[in-house]
Amino acid sequence: MNILVTGANRGLGLAFVKLGAEKGYRIFAGVRSEDTEYPELEKLQKSYPNLVEIQTLDVSDEGSIEASKGELEKRGVSLDGIINNAGVLIDRGVAFHELNLAEGLATFDINTFGPIRVVKHFYDLLKGEKPFIVNISSDAGSITNTYDGDYFYGMSKAALNMFSEKLRRALPAVRIYSIHPGWLHTDMGGKEAPLSPELSAESIFGIIEGEVSVSPGANTYITYDGKKLDY
Ligand code: NDP
Repeated sequence: MNILVTGANRGLGLAFVKLGAEKGYRIFAGVRSEDTEYPELEKLQKSYPNLVEIQTLDVSDEGSIEASKGELEKRGVSLDGIINNAGVLIDRGVAFHELNLAEGLATFDINTFGPIRVVKHFYDLLKGEKPFIVNISSDAGSITNTYDGDYFYGMSKAALNMFSEKLRRALPAVRIYSIHPGWLHTDMGGKEAPLSPELSAESIFGIIEGEVSVSPGANTYITYDGKKLDY
């Protein structure tokens, strides 16, 4: 399988690259900048030179996405799946009366418009037998799960869920998921988080491979272990 992963240099994205390469998948690993060093990802690339390919892919920059897509297309690369994983949590715990709208725009630009840009440009490279798009969402994006703080983050993921649902109708041949990956031990999730990104990635690959079953009646919004979430 050929899979494009965004935000692939650390956290959950890096776990997708490592596990995917171990499974023999060819991973196009998106990183934000060509001028930054990504030692962990570069080490993986050296261990799996035929399977891990690093792509400059800033999801907030449509030009960067067009360039990466154009390059793959020119080489005749097709994709089985896209994992829109890149994300930010900028307004952690900020109360509504202290919200900074510029941070809101930046949050939506990456968490919502990022996956939209990637799908807009890459969907026509999806040519596998059972192609898929995984949008990494969050349970913070469920409107039945509101709590103090993280306004922009939650709203950006709720909007991402809507994008996934619309895609489900627009692309009936493509399996579309909006997946809450669990509370993860990463830079974003913090050290006290109970779940490793590796376990989450393993289970999400299980959903893609049909090894982990999805709750009957679920549309696109599910947990990393296949349980239906309420929008
Ligand atoms: P991290 O903060 O550890 O990693 C985020 C990744 O996104 C980094 O690789 C980062 O790259 C990348 N990224 C951010 N902005 C851009 C951009 N403009 N272009 C390309 N890449 C970008 O987060 P996690 O691994 O924990 O989170 C992965 C996903 O899971 C996110 O979508 C998050 O919202 C979601 N999630 C995470 C939870 C958790 O508990 N951790 C819970 C629920 C959902 P760089 O190093 O350049 O900044």
